[in-house]
This record gives sequence, C-alpha cells and structure tokens, in this order.
Amino acid sequence: MSEASFYQLLLWSWIALAVITMFTLSFFLTAPYGRFIREGWGPRIDSRLGWVAMELPSLLVFVWCYAAAGRPLGEVDTLFLLMWGGHYLHRSLIYPFLLRGGPRQMTLSPLLLGVLFNVGNAYLNGRFLFHFGPARGASWVLDPRFLVGALVFFAGMGINQSADRALRNLRKPGETGYKIPRGGLFERVSCPNYLGESLEWLGWATATWSLSGAAFAFWTIANLYPRARAYHRWYQAQFPDYPSNRKAVVPFVF
Ligand code: NDP
Repeated sequence: MSEASFYQLLLWSWIALAVITMFTLSFFLTAPYGRFIREGWGPRIDSRLGWVAMELPSLLVFVWCYAAAGRPLGEVDTLFLLMWGGHYLHRSLIYPFLLRGGPRQMTLSPLLLGVLFNVGNAYLNGRFLFHFGPARGASWVLDPRFLVGALVFFAGMGINQSADRALRNLRKPGETGYKIPRGGLFERVSCPNYLGESLEWLGWATATWSLSGAAFAFWTIANLYPRARAYHRWYQAQFPDYPSNRKAVVPFVF
C-alpha cells in the first residue's frame, strides 16, 4: 500500500473513531485521570512524567513531518510549525511542571491511548500540511480563512492557558483538594480551559483549511465536552453553593 493510500485510510478511520469515542465518553465512560482516577485501569506513574510522555510525541512527530517534507517549504509552513510547536512545547515541557497538588499520579492506560492519539494526530496534520496537501504560498496569510482561524486559535490559546493558570492557583503549595473556581469565564462555564482548547483546534482547522485539522477539532470536542459535563455535575454534587447560572463548557448553550 502506498503512503498516500495509508494516509487516506487512517484519516477516515480516525474520523470514524472520533464518532465512537464521543458516543462512548458521552454515555458509558469517564476517562480515569485527575478527580476521576480509580482502581482497575492498570499501573500508575507520576503525573508530570505522564504529561511529558503523552504530549511530547505530538511535537516530535510534527517536527519530523516538517523535516521530511515532500516539497520546498515556505513562510506559511513555518508559521504552522510555530503555532503547533508553541502549543505542544507549552503542553509537554512547561505545563506539567507548573501543576500543583503534590505528587499526583496518572493511570497508564489513558496515557498510552493519549500517546497513540498524539502520534496519529500529529502525523495526519503534519503530513497533510508539509507533504500531501497543497503548498500554501505567502498570500495564504491574507486569506480570510487563515486570518479568522489564526485569531480563533490564539484567542483559544489565551483562554485555555489563563483558565489552566486560574485552576492551578486555586491550590496553595501543598494543598490537594478542589475548590469552586471563580472569576472571568468561570462565571459562565465550569471548564473554560476545555472551551479554550476546542477553540484552538477549531481555529487550527480553519487556518489550515484541512480535513485533518477538522478531525482534530472534532476529536477535541468528542473528548473534552463529555468530560466538562461530568465535571459540571461533579461540582454541583460536591458544592451545594455551586453557582446555578453556569453551563459546562459553552456559555449559555452546553
Ligand atoms: P483539569 O481541569 O482536570 O485539571 C487541570 C489542573 O487543575 C489539574 O492539576 C487539576 O488537579 C487542577 N484542578 C482542576 N480543577 C480544580 C479545582 N476545582 N480545584 C483545584 N484544582 C483543580 O484539566 P485536564 O487535566 O483534563 O487538562 C489539562 C490541560 O490539557 C487542559 O488545558 C486541557 O484543555 C488539555 N487537554 C487537552 C486534550 C485534547 O483533547 N486536546 C485532552 C486532555 C487535556 P487534579 O489533577 O488533582 O484534578
């Protein structure tokens, strides 16, 4: 089988798997990490190490796709590398070391699934952008799809990182419990970090105008929106004074 045929097969299987995942996470399963960690899902490792091991492959595979490009690369390709690289550099090598709550653990099974997902996802996105997809000339940066997509991507990144920071700061050094997050978008939704993450990849899909980018955005929603609903219900059950006007992840909607 040629790599082009393999790529197409993987892409469509990927999309089908995202639909199955959304269904499963919506109705049958909450991934066993963070506040939902529980017995029966295999051995555990240090959560910081887990984050690095899970997210670094995304960066490495994407950089490999850039280095192994099947055509001469231009400025726009480098911009895409910087957008992806900026996100994953932060997620794999900075975010894990900012976490609070003492030595936390991560279950190996979701971690391994995360590694598989990240390798496949980075391959699909990187290989499309730098090999199978059309070369995007410098004029692409003035195309409304790029402009709107990049704006949404960076707005999502800002929302994601500032919400993650606010969650981190809920715990003083040494504390391990959970509190009600307040202020900013937390007044509207329980999980603005997940809202920001989904905006990032919706923006990415638009800026790259690719099916692989759209599949990533769909995967992110399939994974995080059911989890946000589970967090929202958990907050309501844990805190009798939890604000009743909040939604789970999309203000006023869901
Ligand atoms: P969570 O919101 O579950 O946790 C983030 C951190 O904040 C954890 O250290 C958590 O502690 C702590 N925390 C959360 N809520 C509270 C609270 N109420 N009080 C005190 N501390 C709290 O995020 P995730 O771990 O699921 O995700 C982390 C980042 O990774 C997010 O930016 C997310 O968007 C991204 N991500 C992206 C995915 C994708 O599909 N693209 C998939 C998964 C994550 P503890 O660990 O003890 O619960």
